[in-house]
Amino acid sequence: MSRTPIIAGNWKMFKTAAEAKAFVTEVKGKAEVEGVQSVICAPFTALPALVEAVKGTSIKVGAQNLHFEDNGAFTGEISGIMLNDLGVDFVIIGHSERRAYFAETDEIVSKKVHAAFRHHLIPIVCVGEKLEEREAGQTKDVCRVQTEAAFNGLSASEAANVVVAYEPIWAIGTGKSSTAEDANEVIGYIRGVIRDLFDAETADQVRIQYGGSVKPNNIREYMQQSDIDGALVGGASLEPASYVALVEGAK
Ligand code: PGA
Repeated sequence: MSRTPIIAGNWKMFKTAAEAKAFVTEVKGKAEVEGVQSVICAPFTALPALVEAVKGTSIKVGAQNLHFEDNGAFTGEISGIMLNDLGVDFVIIGHSERRAYFAETDEIVSKKVHAAFRHHLIPIVCVGEKLEEREAGQTKDVCRVQTEAAFNGLSASEAANVVVAYEPIWAIGTGKSSTAEDANEVIGYIRGVIRDLFDAETADQVRIQYGGSVKPNNIREYMQQSDIDGALVGGASLEPASYVALVEGAK
């Protein structure tokens, strides 16, 4: 089974619309590598400019969140309908920063995954353990519970299209990355959880990324592993040259 790896930049709360446009001008052509899907996940306010800027390229655009309802009295929220209307293809769901600072639970994550599929968005669902959970030997249990919630109630064909990002929380933005072997072991375990929920064919199609201090100088180590299908990258996705190097390194 060959899965197309995805390099997804998670810009977090960085870059204006003008900066997003300038970024695409720099990476166009270079961050387009045969056999690698390049995705940029930007703040909502930069999405229209980004969608326009990537037209005619193979680079796809993602949001970093969505609300689980389609419309309603939810001041300040953005729905899947609105993202689909903009021409966005991907959406990050359940990033650890949203779980930690915005009280997102596994139940909310599940509702958001369903909302994404209702509006033809591919969810990039983040799972991963905290440092104290890793130290207590709970990494796999935490990932199993989060993965089961994320895939809850999906059809097998929807499940096959989910992208999972395994991001150990202690590795995000810290410069302390998981070793490629450790990440591969957990990711293989997550694939096994998906196999138990659905079947081997479905599990083999799911792209599972690693995330947490991925840089141009370590991307290749991750990509050499059997179960790692790309990376979700924060800090190192903000500079055009670094982003291009990540995409090239995923080949
Ligand atoms: P980092 O962030 O690459 O800056 O560690 C990863 C993420 O939060 O997705």
